[in-house]
Amino acid sequence: MSILVVGSIALDSVETPFGRAEEALGGAAVYFSYAASFFNHVRLVGVVGSDFPAEHLELLQGRDIDLSGLERADGATFRWSGRYDFDLNEAHTLDTQLNVFETFSPTIPDSFRDSDFVFLANIQPGLQLDVARQVNSPKVIACDTMNFWIEGAYEQLVETLGAVDILIINDAEARELAREPSLVKAARAIMDMGPETLVVKQGEYGVLMFNRHSVFSAPAYPLEDVYDPTGAGDTFAGGFMGFLSTAADIDDTSIRQAVVFGSTLASFNVEDFSLNRMKRLEMDDILGRYAEFKQLSHFEEIATD
Ligand code: AMP
Repeated sequence: MSILVVGSIALDSVETPFGRAEEALGGAAVYFSYAASFFNHVRLVGVVGSDFPAEHLELLQGRDIDLSGLERADGATFRWSGRYDFDLNEAHTLDTQLNVFETFSPTIPDSFRDSDFVFLANIQPGLQLDVARQVNSPKVIACDTMNFWIEGAYEQLVETLGAVDILIINDAEARELAREPSLVKAARAIMDMGPETLVVKQGEYGVLMFNRHSVFSAPAYPLEDVYDPTGAGDTFAGGFMGFLSTAADIDDTSIRQAVVFGSTLASFNVEDFSLNRMKRLEMDDILGRYAEFKQLSHFEEIATD
C-alpha cells in the first residue's frame, strides 16, 4: 500500500514564546510525509525552488519518501513566517511568499497513479480535485483546507469534497465551511457534501471524529512543554493516514486507532521546532505514547444493580 501526498514544501520562519527558527524545513507535505513514513512508503508531489537546501531532500529520502514527483523550479522556494503568542492554538501569519508555489500545477507521475491512499494537503481546491482525478482507483482520499479557500473558492471546494472520503480540518474551519456554529450540526452538513468521515482538530483540546454511525473523541496528549505547534495538523494527518494504510479494513475501529496515532505523532512534533523532534523519533516511542493515550481516556463502567 502506498500513500501519495500533494502539498506545500516550505522554508518556515517561526517565533513562539520559547524561541525562534529561521528558514527551517516545513510545509504541509513535508510534515505529512515524515509522519506517514513511520508506517508505509510515501510518494510526495510538490515544488521547491533552486535555493532549497540539499540536506532537506536527503532527510526525506532517508525516510523511504519517494521524491520522483518533486518539481525543481527556477526561483525561490515557498516561504511562510508566523508567530504564536501564549495561546499556541492560534498561528498569526506574518508573511507568505508563494514564490514557485504560486504557479504549482501538480502532475502525478504515471508510477504514482496506482496509489491507494491519497492526502490532498492544503492547496487550491480545484488543484486538489485535479489530483484526485489523476489517481486510478484510490481506497481512501483525505483532504485538508483552510479559511482562505472556504471564503474565496467555496463552490470549488464543495465540488472537491464530493470526491473526498475523509476531511481533516480544525474546528473553526468546520464551522465556517458549514456556516453553522454547532459542531455536531456542522459535521452533518459537511458529511452531506461528500466525506463519509470528518476529523475535527481542536489543538490542545484534542480531536473529534464524526461519521454516520458514531462520534469519537480523543484528547491531546498533556505535554508539559509545547515549543512550536507548526505542522501539528499535517503531522496528525500523516500519522492518521499512515496507520490507516496498514489496517486490514477501513472501518470505525481502524479510523479510531488512526485518530490516536495521528494525535500521538502530532504530540511529538510540537516538542521542538521544525522537524527536529521527529528526526529523533523511533517507532518504540510512538507505540509507547499510543499506549499512554489508551490509559489517558480509559474509565470503568459502573455497576448498575
Ligand atoms: P499546520 O501547522 O499543520 O496547519 O501547517 C503548517 C505548515 O503549513 C507550515 O509548515 C507552512 O509552511 C505551511 N503553510 C502555511 N501557509 C500555507 C499556505 N497558504 N499554503 C500551503 N501551505 C501553507
